Amino acid sequence: MIIILLGPPGAGKGTQAQKIQSSQGLVQLSTGDMLRAAVSAGTEVGKKAKDFMEAGKLVTDEIVVGIIADRIEEDDCKQGFLLDGFPRTVAQAEALDNMLNQKSLKLDGVIEMKVDDEALVDRITGRYTCADCNQGYHEENLKPKVDGVCDNCGSTNFKRRADDNRETVSSRLESYHAQTAPLLPYYESQGVLKTVDGMADINDVTTQINDVLGSLA
Ligand code: AMP
Repeated sequence: MIIILLGPPGAGKGTQAQKIQSSQGLVQLSTGDMLRAAVSAGTEVGKKAKDFMEAGKLVTDEIVVGIIADRIEEDDCKQGFLLDGFPRTVAQAEALDNMLNQKSLKLDGVIEMKVDDEALVDRITGRYTCADCNQGYHEENLKPKVDGVCDNCGSTNFKRRADDNRETVSSRLESYHAQTAPLLPYYESQGVLKTVDGMADINDVTTQINDVLGSLA
């Protein structure tokens, strides 16, 4: 199955993608995670992407399309994959359509996670992850059971994303509305768009997404 999770920054795409990855065995392909890894490793791609990311702007289509084209060739993508944060422009969506056509694959569904803009700033500025296993947390909405200790792996090291600050968030939301929201009519016209209520409780959102996946299977 090939699925896209679509929604603004802070909608919960990464959280839900991790849950779906473990429950459905679909590998999560997050261009944001791949770009952050490239920035940390200081690769050529990372050097090109860093300034865009810190400013909350989209990196070029050429860079992300190249990353995804290489990644979907890997063995773990043979059973399908879940795209998280890609595509983010109509040009990227067209490039994806071409890649899938060439491999005689088809996109099964695009799941839009709909969230009010006002909720996103608090969601993003309060979030952090375990530095060792990447489990996501939030200062208010999703605290570890024991303060300062990761529920998943017991680590006491946590990290925040460099771009999860108020200034960058507004630029990221602008990019979403100007460049990514046009994907909604694009996929609606292909008949693959499904919408879930991303304002619901995390587990409710997972249930809604699982229902959509069940209807596609
Ligand atoms: P994310 O983790 O998905 O919020 O992505 C973090 C940042 O990486 C974004 O603000 C962009 O600068 C960059 N990025 C991630 N995915 C894409 C994409 N598909 N197209 C362009 N830029 C991207």
